[in-house]
Amino acid sequence: MDRLLAEIENRRDDLISCTQELIRIPTLNPPGRHYRDICALVGERMGAQGWKVEMVRAEGALGDSDRYPRWNVICRIEGQRTGECVHFNSHHDVVAVGDGWTKDPFGAEHSEGRVWGRGACDMKGGLATSIVAAEAFVALHPDFAGAIEISATADEESGGFGGVAYLAGKGFFDPARVQHVIIPEPLNKDRICLGHRGVWWAEIETKGHIAHGSMPFLGDCAVRHMGAVLEEMEETLFPLLAGKRTEMPVVPDGAKQSTLNINSIHGGEPVQEEGYTGLPSACVPDRCTLTIDRRFLIEEDIAEVKREVAQMMERVRERRPDFRYEIRDLFEVQPTMTAEDAPVVLTVQAAVEEVMGKSAEFVVSPGTYDQKHIDRIGRLKNCIAYGPGVLDLAHQPDEWIGVDDMVDSGKVMALALARLLT
Ligand SMILES: [Zn+2]
Repeated sequence: MDRLLAEIENRRDDLISCTQELIRIPTLNPPGRHYRDICALVGERMGAQGWKVEMVRAEGALGDSDRYPRWNVICRIEGQRTGECVHFNSHHDVVAVGDGWTKDPFGAEHSEGRVWGRGACDMKGGLATSIVAAEAFVALHPDFAGAIEISATADEESGGFGGVAYLAGKGFFDPARVQHVIIPEPLNKDRICLGHRGVWWAEIETKGHIAHGSMPFLGDCAVRHMGAVLEEMEETLFPLLAGKRTEMPVVPDGAKQSTLNINSIHGGEPVQEEGYTGLPSACVPDRCTLTIDRRFLIEEDIAEVKREVAQMMERVRERRPDFRYEIRDLFEVQPTMTAEDAPVVLTVQAAVEEVMGKSAEFVVSPGTYDQKHIDRIGRLKNCIAYGPGVLDLAHQPDEWIGVDDMVDSGKVMALALARLLT
């Protein structure tokens, strides 16, 4: 085991340059740039060392087009004996750069013990770490049992339909093929993420009747109806949600309860194009829409979550004559949480203890990530997120990944492989 840890240390420079090479490919999503390039980079590296490389385009998936094809790469190496398969899955896409950078977002500068750039922490550093950890393990234990897979997949930042969801649909995460999945998302090197809360996005529309703005009594204002909805929400729904606490170890603390975000509200005349110098026209709004983002707990049932909103709307209706509305489902994901005694959890827990001399903290993510597809489509329950990086840095300007953090979690990953495959 000590040799394995030393081997990871020896590969520190390689780990840095691998991270840099990945950051320098600007895989911006949207729209989904350079996916093929980054898959080729990973594929060429692993292929040169005897891994079997499969490039898979998620043809026809949400987001896939000939202009911006959704490419994924899966690399696999077989051991000398039969055994289980450990799969490391990272997304290769990154979010928009945004303002406020003092570093070149795709320059991958190495300074102050960090590698800087968009995607450094979320999650090209994690991808590089899993690659180097697996390579080090194979070099020291060429006689290992089972198989190892490394994948770099598309579109996690936009739902994962052209990435893990597509691959899961094709059987890549079938429990017969893969037994353990580790997703190196930046959850901090001493934390094991067991899963995430559920999501329900919906659009609520209140309906009115258009009329001349000088005679609003001849119309019916959809925005005033929505005002009544918001008031009811403040008075009954938010307090109800604040009272629902979960046993899931969600971080940060504020997310240990049910939450609801009002994502947007639109009513009446649309905003005019920039440069329009006229006045608005005098109209009573006949339509107002509200998009809600409801995050729910493993203790809650999605039918109940939807019923709460429907009941709230009915309470408003009782007070307002002519109140008409519609609720449209946009998107939903079930909450998921891997058992604390699942084999991959116990193994990574023991490895964290060995490398860092302290026990790993179990956490659950407030938002979803690709585990949702592995769980639901792949039907594989033995899955966690574990990887280097500070979660709060994700999507921020001057994003970075600490080199020591990558080395430490690389050791944990390599030890986990040793425990599972030798
Ligand atoms: Zn991520």
